[in-house]
Amino acid sequence: EAPVVTIDGPGGAGKGTVSLMVARRLGWHYLDSGALYRLVAVAAARDGLDIDDGDALARRVGQLRIEFHLLTDALQVQLDGVDVTAAIREEACARSASRLAVHARLRSVLLPLQRAFARPPGLVAEGRDMGTVVFPQAPLKVFLTASVEQRARRRWLQLSAAGVDASLDAILDELRRRDAQDASRATAPLRPADDAVLVDSSDLTADEVCARILGHCQE
Ligand code: C5P
Repeated sequence: EAPVVTIDGPGGAGKGTVSLMVARRLGWHYLDSGALYRLVAVAAARDGLDIDDGDALARRVGQLRIEFHLLTDALQVQLDGVDVTAAIREEACARSASRLAVHARLRSVLLPLQRAFARPPGLVAEGRDMGTVVFPQAPLKVFLTASVEQRARRRWLQLSAAGVDASLDAILDELRRRDAQDASRATAPLRPADDAVLVDSSDLTADEVCARILGHCQE
């Protein structure tokens, strides 16, 4: 069985950047599980499915052709042959993804899809429940956090750099709302696995976080 490193945590803690870096350094496969939930949101919008109907969404998942391609420094995502890399990063998509992620039935049909990523030489899996539900046997589980203010600031800087005019207060509100939603849902609420290593990225660069995780890999 291929070794797995799981990296879970709230939105904006830097999981995406760091997980890609760790996967690159190890030469392992990479799973962005949030992208799967976002893909379901894109498919639901495309096909006019109700995101509050978990059973209908779960049934549709089996009919979707989902492809992840790991490019040099980013993940490219395709849905039924269409590149949806940009579409899944939109704020409306994130909101729908977070809402449809509450459905237990949908989460369970996504399990085998996620587990199929664990192939030799190894996998770096990023999300909310990688260590607690999807890969509970992973030898290294990281829970990556940062203060909500720091996470909001980072997202604001990212958006500003991309030329998007956003308000820091609005981002802060949205992050707090989503944190509460992810932590309080009945199925797979966001929490560290019992044996997770906690890493607070508030005062660390992505390189420093990556180095710390690689250090734990060698233990
Ligand atoms: O991490 P990302 O922002 O891409 O995730 C989008 C949404 O998908 C999150 O708000 C979260 O509710 C959900 N999600 C989840 N379980 C995962 C990954 C993401 O419920 N493993």
